[in-house]
Amino acid sequence: MAEVSIAARFRVFHREASAAGGLQVRAEKRRLDAANVASPFIVRGGRWRQWYRSSYVHNLADAVDHCRAQGIDLAKVEATATGHSQRPWTVAQDKRARKQVQRRTRVLLRPACSARTKIRLRHKLARWHLPLHGGRRVERAIAVLGRLRRLVPPRVQAALLRTWFNGWCTKRRFQQAEGSSCMLGCLHGQDSVEHYSTCRHVFAYGASKLRLDDPGEPEARRAKFFLLDREGLRADADLQAMALLQTAIYRLHCRHRRSSLRLADEETASRAIAQAVREAAMGHARALAMLNHRWVRSGGGRS
Ligand SMILES: [Zn+2]
Repeated sequence: MAEVSIAARFRVFHREASAAGGLQVRAEKRRLDAANVASPFIVRGGRWRQWYRSSYVHNLADAVDHCRAQGIDLAKVEATATGHSQRPWTVAQDKRARKQVQRRTRVLLRPACSARTKIRLRHKLARWHLPLHGGRRVERAIAVLGRLRRLVPPRVQAALLRTWFNGWCTKRRFQQAEGSSCMLGCLHGQDSVEHYSTCRHVFAYGASKLRLDDPGEPEARRAKFFLLDREGLRADADLQAMALLQTAIYRLHCRHRRSSLRLADEETASRAIAQAVREAAMGHARALAMLNHRWVRSGGGRS
């Protein structure tokens, strides 16, 4: 909700009364502040300071400052609305740039995260032995969630949170890891998030069908599986592909838990992952477009 409110104020700041030259919020704010400071009624001014501070011009300016701190300004919002087209825009692009300010701003804004949420996230991520300092992990996790909102359907974010919060119903989670095995057929892999996040079948599929680099090292693989590898997932398409693959493995595991899947041979496992990846992207135009662009057809990527 906080993002909706900020985005709405951002729109009003930039678009309200634009035919008449705009609201001139900054100038109005300066005038009000100056009048407050210069007022001869010192006691009354002090008593009413907070009231003045919550004026509509202060509110609007605060929202724009909040966006600016996240690198969001009107030029960036208009660029996303028009698909980064050069000016002059077409009539349709111009209409989108005018009409979609609030919606695009809301999507660009990183979700507000309370200190309590950060502490909880830090605590939950600590168990995974990721090659990152605790504070950096949390900052990166919040940034990733913000990016994913426009790149993939909500079910992908939900699966990622289940992973970060150790929500998979694996044998390991129920203290039955001893003697359990990887659903994808690894000889020495246990049924655990620790294993699936570094499983060679997962990363072999990512490399061959989704054009994702396989970092090789277990720690680096895990950072990538948890979507916290900044270098390897800098490009949106890489982040989308890895997020869909991670969700696919999570959903396959849910199915496996209910009725043991027979994925022991590589071809069957690959087909099952392909199907799950496509299901993870279902109904989301941007995620499906990325898949169609990346999918390597040789090897039977499409189901
Ligand atoms: Zn495995």
